[in-house]
Amino acid sequence: MSETCPHLEYREEGDGRSFEVARAFCTVTGSFVQPMRADVCNARHGLDPEADCEFYVAPEAEAGVDIDENEER
Ligand code: SF4
Repeated sequence: MSETCPHLEYREEGDGRSFEVARAFCTVTGSFVQPMRADVCNARHGLDPEADCEFYVAPEAEAGVDIDENEER
């Protein structure tokens, strides 16, 4: 199933800088996401974070969150 990665956040500051437009940030790697990878994070173009991202970890393994709670967009 393709949906936005639960580890994706948008932040307007980080790495000691701030941005006018919020940038994609991965909470697994703790770093901003490169534009090409953001397509995976957002499940664009048929990409799937779980299948196509090597950083992906199952949400319940990380935080004990019931995966059903992450179904909403
Ligand atoms: S798809 Fe990968 S890089 Fe993007 S937010 Fe999820 S774990 Fe991070």
